[in-house]
Amino acid sequence: MIQGNYFRDNDDMVQVFKSLVDWKEIIEVYEHGFKDAADYKKTGNERYASAPSSIEEALDMYESILDSAGDLMGTYVAPRSAEMDKIGLKYDNGKVIFPQAQVDCYNTLRDAGLQPMAISRKYGGLGLPVTAQSLLCEISARADAAFCLAFGNINIVDIVERYGSEEICEQWIPDIAAGKYSAAMALTEPNYGSDLPNVQTKAEKGADGVWRLTGTKRFITHACGYDKAPSIILTLARTGSPTSGARGLSFFIVQGKDIHVASIEKKMGLHCSPTCEVVFDNAPGQMIGEEGFGLVKYSMGMMNSARITIAAQSLGIAEGAYREAKKYASERVQFGKTIDKIPAVKKMLDRMEREQAATRMLVLEASRAVDLYIWKREQLKHEGKTDREIKADPTIRRWEKLADLFTPMAKYYASESCVKIAYDAVQVHGGAGYTEEYDVARIYRDARITTIYEGTTQLQVVAAIGGIVAGMSAAGNLREYVNQEFAQMKPSPELKRLFDLFSGIVDGYKAIESSDEKGMVAFETVESATRFLMGMLMERSVSKLSGAEAEHRKKLCRDFNLDSLAILEGTSVRMKEKPAA
Ligand SMILES: Cc1cc2nc3c(=O)[nH]c(=O)nc-3n(C[C@H](O)[C@H](O)[C@H](O)COP(=O)(O)OP(=O)(O)OC[C@H]3O[C@@H](n4cnc5c(N)ncnc54)[C@H](O)[C@@H]3O)c2cc1C
Repeated sequence: MIQGNYFRDNDDMVQVFKSLVDWKEIIEVYEHGFKDAADYKKTGNERYASAPSSIEEALDMYESILDSAGDLMGTYVAPRSAEMDKIGLKYDNGKVIFPQAQVDCYNTLRDAGLQPMAISRKYGGLGLPVTAQSLLCEISARADAAFCLAFGNINIVDIVERYGSEEICEQWIPDIAAGKYSAAMALTEPNYGSDLPNVQTKAEKGADGVWRLTGTKRFITHACGYDKAPSIILTLARTGSPTSGARGLSFFIVQGKDIHVASIEKKMGLHCSPTCEVVFDNAPGQMIGEEGFGLVKYSMGMMNSARITIAAQSLGIAEGAYREAKKYASERVQFGKTIDKIPAVKKMLDRMEREQAATRMLVLEASRAVDLYIWKREQLKHEGKTDREIKADPTIRRWEKLADLFTPMAKYYASESCVKIAYDAVQVHGGAGYTEEYDVARIYRDARITTIYEGTTQLQVVAAIGGIVAGMSAAGNLREYVNQEFAQMKPSPELKRLFDLFSGIVDGYKAIESSDEKGMVAFETVESATRFLMGMLMERSVSKLSGAEAEHRKKLCRDFNLDSLAILEGTSVRMKEKPAA
């Protein structure tokens, strides 16, 4: 793997960090008037010692976190990636043994204090907004996709922070933030993957008032814990009747010591990430939140955060693939010149570069949308506002809807793009790319999972399509968002044409009566929306830059929009024809 500081050596990421993200709006809503810093002054509570007291301090803190993570990931983890993948995991009677190189990486990152990014300072976390978390996650995935999961898994407990009782939060989260536990989410079962509303693991309350869970979960990442850190498993289980659907599901914390890891999967990639089959046999569980909201509120909340994480992971894996391909192409000589001078190869590398830049814009806009509603909601909760008042707040309503839409768009697009970039990176390497001597072979195998877990691409399309159709109605929130963005920029003729095409495709989709026929063109409709949005975000970003940076980005943006025009024109033609029966 190319070594270096994975933050500093990435010009696009540094440009995004320094010039393109509107940190002020995010920090203001995240820091609630810099209340943690004020608490530290008043109480001396050490958990708040690192809390920033101004926008500048917050930004300095984010930059130093990204810098340290960039350095450790790029110089300590990345060089061990091939070795970790080759050694893989061992399973022995319910125990999983990790390669020593991975344990060393894990301990180093944990000891550097970089792990608990999504956990608030109140419980000993770093306290980073989602936008900063996404950058950190991208950096870690570029070094090693499997390690990124080991390093980041504890952060799924931010859902417990949002909905668990104060007592449960204090009981678990500080120890999790300190790395004493690892975390897992147990949703999938052998017969229910995409079809989560029907999962059958049962939870029953005994005469002693304790819930006990019985059933089998499949494909559970890190259910076995990590080395010396046992797992805490956030589990979806049925408290209603077997046919009670989504409303019969509740959400529990189960301890790893109370379950049995029956096996781990032998997989195409992610060789150092344990994917466990887990047996719950009357395992005690603590319920989080209210009974009956396990899927619709807590698992969906957890999955929405995890989807942004996987979008960022996809960007990181693809960044690694792009860098390796670019380096190889600059060294490999054929026909008397390096292959990066050959148009067919250059074309692949150029496409990777603009896809990465545009996808980064999309992932960060989805992260921004989450930041702009989620922390405002926490702020209002803290001020004692009722659920009703919170739901009625216009800022929360606006950004929550946009976040619910941008999240599946980002997850679908970033993961599909990652697979394509990894594919092309192998292609650029020729036969060498098909050998294990080069990192792209492992990257290609690792990339393939991103379109599958945390909801397949098809399920992201299902999650996004309703929001696109409703959002593009005359008073819809997506239309309003686009109008506001257009009013602040000078959209290019290509972007205007893309908007017209996208609007026409949505109208075409709406006009289809049969839901089966709609299902046949839902992907293309979501793709049109996503590519238009990415084009708009790219044009907005050009307007924030000047000089050579602006010129370079303008070119990436124009080429990306030309690709989109070709795709959307094609889809428009296709939409006019009925799909074959
Ligand atoms: C390495 C790995 C790690 C994982 N980690 C976890 C974890 O930590 N926790 C956890 O709970 N799960 C985890 N999973 C499970 C993962 O989330 C599921 O595999 C995924 O959601 C798909 O479910 P499935 O495998 O049952 O596929 P299926 O649901 O059987 O889907 C098969 C195909 O049918 C399509 N399909 C199904 N329903 C629809 C529909 N309504 N509309 C359109 N298309 C549809 C799918 O898109 C897919 O192409 C992991 C899986 C893997 C491989």
